[in-house]
Amino acid sequence: MIPSLYVHVPFCLRKCNYCDFYSLPLSAAGDLFREYPRLLEKELTLWQSRIEPGSFSTVYFGGGTPSLLEPETIGHFLSLLKTEQAEITLEANPETLDAQRLSAFREAGVNRLSLGVQSFSPRFLEAMGRGHSPEQSRRAIRDARKAGFGNIGLDLIFGLPGQSLEDWAHELEEALALETEHISLYGLTISQDCPWGKAGLSPQNDDLQADMLELATEKLNRAGILQYEIANFARPGFASRHNRAYWRRENYLGLGPAAAGCIRNHRWNNVCDLPRWAAAVEKGELPLEGEELLSMDQVIAEAMFLGLRLLEGINCLDFAAQYGLDPRKRFKREISRMKKAGLLEEDENQLHLSRRGILLGDAVFAEFV
Ligand code: SF4
Repeated sequence: MIPSLYVHVPFCLRKCNYCDFYSLPLSAAGDLFREYPRLLEKELTLWQSRIEPGSFSTVYFGGGTPSLLEPETIGHFLSLLKTEQAEITLEANPETLDAQRLSAFREAGVNRLSLGVQSFSPRFLEAMGRGHSPEQSRRAIRDARKAGFGNIGLDLIFGLPGQSLEDWAHELEEALALETEHISLYGLTISQDCPWGKAGLSPQNDDLQADMLELATEKLNRAGILQYEIANFARPGFASRHNRAYWRRENYLGLGPAAAGCIRNHRWNNVCDLPRWAAAVEKGELPLEGEELLSMDQVIAEAMFLGLRLLEGINCLDFAAQYGLDPRKRFKREISRMKKAGLLEEDENQLHLSRRGILLGDAVFAEFV
């Protein structure tokens, strides 16, 4: 069974200055923007002729800026899938939305909106090269509520060049005032290839970023938006089912350039290039680039470090039932070292990060690679 489908939509109105995702500005996409829905449908058919995906419990349109697609296009694509009771998420940028489009996305079947707010400060939005104002973010959330969305998330970035802890506290207060069900936080990294990297800009240092995450955890938890993964917070019952499936290492299929897929120990990536992806799909070929058959050791290590990202951690009995071994025996030395360092804890059969481990997660995950 493949419970999750990711659909990458690699188009943006313009590129943000820090962006490292695979997406093209619309001006560079040419006819492929118009052709994209047809090609996605063809790629889906290629998979359906090879495997029986069954019913999806989550579908996630990510990007890029999926809200650049027409609501009818999303609706038509969803009509090709079995999605009864599914969580259907659309990533959206505020400047692409208005009340009418939001109602049409809701009618098309989207039931979860993930809004790329990133900041409420005009100064930082401008520096990032974002195309929206704080007021557009607020309006998009108000309009989404009126359109019937009962599950809205927003994304914020922390560690921006020049951002202080006080700036960040203000961002969190602005976000909380909007009363969304979900908030995702991204600690900024800057690759050498993006405009900020080329200009020699750096994110705020690790210590300040750790303080920012700690402050966010305190403020959001206090407001009832509870941390359920290192950088993700939700009101009870509103954790992202799609992302949870990744962290639980469940099977997923990815469509579109740069999308990834994983079925049991078979993992792959699609080519990270829109014209090459389109040419392969047009020829009736799956546009795969990197394919790996993981060993059982690799699968188990991956299940450990993904599962530990969730605050509830790993249930050792469930893990043993799924992988045929108790992680406490297989990783006895590593677990003991991490417990002594105060990074890992065990309650009953549940292995999970400690408060300190949440802030130093990478050090824990490295133990299992
Ligand atoms: S909107 Fe998102 S994907 Fe598009 S350029 Fe900006 S950060 Fe990248």
